[in-house]
Amino acid sequence: MVKGIGASPGIAMGRAFVIPVWEWDFPDKIIDVSDLAYEFQRLHDGIRSSKHELEHIKREVSDVIGQEKSSIFDAHLAILDDPVFMNEIQVIMQKQYKAAEVAVREVIEKFIGMFDLLDDDYMKERALDIRDVGGRLLKNLLNDFEETLPPEDQPYILVAKELTPSQLARLDVSNILGILVMLGGATSHSAIMARAFGIPLVVGLEGKLPQPIQNGDFLIVDGETGDVFVNPADDVTAQYMLSQRQYSQTREQLQTIIGLPCLTQDGCEIRLEANIGSLKELDLALSHGASGVGLFRTEYLYMDRHTLPKEDEQFEVYRQAAERTGQHHLIIRTLDIGADKQLDYITLPEEDNPSLGYRAIRISLDRKDLFKTQLRAILRASIYGRVKIMYPMISSLEEVRMANKLLEEAKQELLSRLLPFNRHIEVGVMIEVPAAVAIADMLAEEVDFFSIGTNDLTQYVLAVDRMNETIAHYYNPFHPAVLRSLKQTVDAAKAAGIPVGVCGELAGDLRALPIWLGLGVEELSMSAQSLLQVKQRILNSSAERGRAIFAKLMACKTGNEIVELLAEFDSLAK
Ligand code: PEP
Ligand code: MG
Repeated sequence: MVKGIGASPGIAMGRAFVIPVWEWDFPDKIIDVSDLAYEFQRLHDGIRSSKHELEHIKREVSDVIGQEKSSIFDAHLAILDDPVFMNEIQVIMQKQYKAAEVAVREVIEKFIGMFDLLDDDYMKERALDIRDVGGRLLKNLLNDFEETLPPEDQPYILVAKELTPSQLARLDVSNILGILVMLGGATSHSAIMARAFGIPLVVGLEGKLPQPIQNGDFLIVDGETGDVFVNPADDVTAQYMLSQRQYSQTREQLQTIIGLPCLTQDGCEIRLEANIGSLKELDLALSHGASGVGLFRTEYLYMDRHTLPKEDEQFEVYRQAAERTGQHHLIIRTLDIGADKQLDYITLPEEDNPSLGYRAIRISLDRKDLFKTQLRAILRASIYGRVKIMYPMISSLEEVRMANKLLEEAKQELLSRLLPFNRHIEVGVMIEVPAAVAIADMLAEEVDFFSIGTNDLTQYVLAVDRMNETIAHYYNPFHPAVLRSLKQTVDAAKAAGIPVGVCGELAGDLRALPIWLGLGVEELSMSAQSLLQVKQRILNSSAERGRAIFAKLMACKTGNEIVELLAEFDSLAK
């Protein structure tokens, strides 16, 4: 067994189809000065054909994976339009008389090298996009289209050294049982696509396999644990066949509770909502029975592109989201960038402590143009559903007041353009900074709702960087200090009579249910994948029992005691 990184859940078993690595090993051809014009013509023809192909692929896949995810190919098109990229190629051709494909190869390799040097996984994965576009352009220049295609009517497990989004888009995904990728991480675009297609994926196997996988090898891929077996013994296969059957049975069984009201056995209703980053995720969440959206992470609309999304473009996405959520609410969180979420086209300052730095609402209050554009787009969408606005990373009343002042200005701007919006749109805040917990009673007087972001709250309450693997064992959302912060926040919201929900990962953690039942939190927002599991646990629980457990939890002195006590409840609940 080899262990990679599980990047898209599910178990796949089948024969390998290995995508051969296409080597760029053609000679360094030098051209005659008199051929320069012809060579430029070849370059431009190659670019034009590559663009046509990309536009075609984009149209083809957008029906399957949704418009936003297919915008991955806009990033590819933008590379072909990039003046710096083109200029470098032309200079090499003009000054060194190198053939178009030789100049293109040099520039691509230089760009890939620059991205690879960066100490940032996201950026490293963008190098793959450049390689993908570069490969396409080179193939067009060299008329080299010989491709080894997978078997047509036979399902297979795709194995690749690197997998580019356009390679994946070219294949008939209904035949792909699972995917193994040697390089690349879970945030690569192809990983995002695999998750959207629901194909189990394991990445990061480079250097771990005793020998390369061959076409026809029998593979088992566990996209949850990252475990991979190559030509396993019969007993392993039998065991995984059982797990695969159980996995699909559990998923099928869970489907049967989609339509049921989400009530504990003693009649306490909990609203299960979705955390989404795109319309595609919204559709998935709705198909899993989500009662609305508790957190729309809008930063994904700003990623994978070269410029800020315009008001109309954002409005279109928010409008569609509002229409699809119908009578349920749609909480749109304003841009939460900074720290681990960066945008290519906005240079944020280098910081020693990015999580404590220029991020989220701090950027929005500084970049008023950017913030108001987003607010106008959300306001305009507010007449199409039950849209609410939420500010991230609030730590003071001044920030709320300043944000609300800009919201007022955005409203006035729409009024002067004679555009309709909900004048009474509700405005809430994320509670994810200890300062916000400490003044929760005061915040509750000025906002319409709270949503607790347990991911950041744990990070800031415990002073543990949530991205730092070395100290990951300190990151314990069940620490008594986090529990007390949750209680203080919920108590403040209840005293002021405003709703409070939870949208951090803890909301979808089955172990945490007694905490929500004990606190009386009735709105939990989580990823689509967790919804039905949590719902099933709720259907089998009792709120009264949850309250009793919670009283004991509050008396625990350590995180370990809390985890152990919750595990006891867990076993009782099954
Ligand atoms: C949180 O911090 O808990 C949260 C939901 O926001 P994000 O994970 O996007 O920071
Ligand atoms: Mg957060």
